[in-house]
Amino acid sequence: MIEPDGPTAGELGVGDPHVGDVVVSEQDLKRRVRELGAQITADYAGRPPLLVGVLKGACFFLSDLARSIRLPVELDFMAVSSYGSATRTSGVVRIVKDLDLDLTGRHVLIVEDIVDSGLTLSYLRRNLAARHPSSLEVVALLVKDGLQSVDLDLAYEGFRIPPDFVVGYGLDVAERYRNLPFIATYRGETGRNDLRATLGHP
Ligand code: 5GP
Repeated sequence: MIEPDGPTAGELGVGDPHVGDVVVSEQDLKRRVRELGAQITADYAGRPPLLVGVLKGACFFLSDLARSIRLPVELDFMAVSSYGSATRTSGVVRIVKDLDLDLTGRHVLIVEDIVDSGLTLSYLRRNLAARHPSSLEVVALLVKDGLQSVDLDLAYEGFRIPPDFVVGYGLDVAERYRNLPFIATYRGETGRNDLRATLGHP
């Protein structure tokens, strides 16, 4: 039998001492993603976008957003890894998985989970712009307040949040917490070595 209710709070990590305050609730995420979808539907009428998701963090946002856009969108994914500590990017980005599609002549919309310093996004934008898309814009679900040293130039943004480290709705710590249906602050130590200790790795 299919249970009508979702996972229990305990299974989702609520009660986990490392999951702190809810920063964006499940209801607010749903409402805002629907609004962004409606806006993108209106803006891209007659020129359906190619949504480029940045793995893995943007996977839930991208799949919800794509279903809120009433246009025949295309999807592609790339994975990048940035050098730096577990919680700080250095601006040096390596493409771990590249796109399958050719961007020439396409209306590309980069779908990002979170913008912190903006360095990852600025690298991605430069990299994709060099592939001759017809247009290139960015939708970011979360933008941390006041931390960016670069001009972000976001066409769409979901929420401005305080500059705390957060998890949920795709965002992880060492691959955990991605399936929380809300965004919450993370209370544990976030340095790579500390994380290994926190999660019980040798
Ligand atoms: P930026 O280059 O803007 O400093 O960092 C962007 C990337 O760092 C994001 O795509 C994400 O992978 C990671 N990141 C930044 N802030 C957070 C956060 O609060 N939580 C998690 N889980 N990842 C973050």
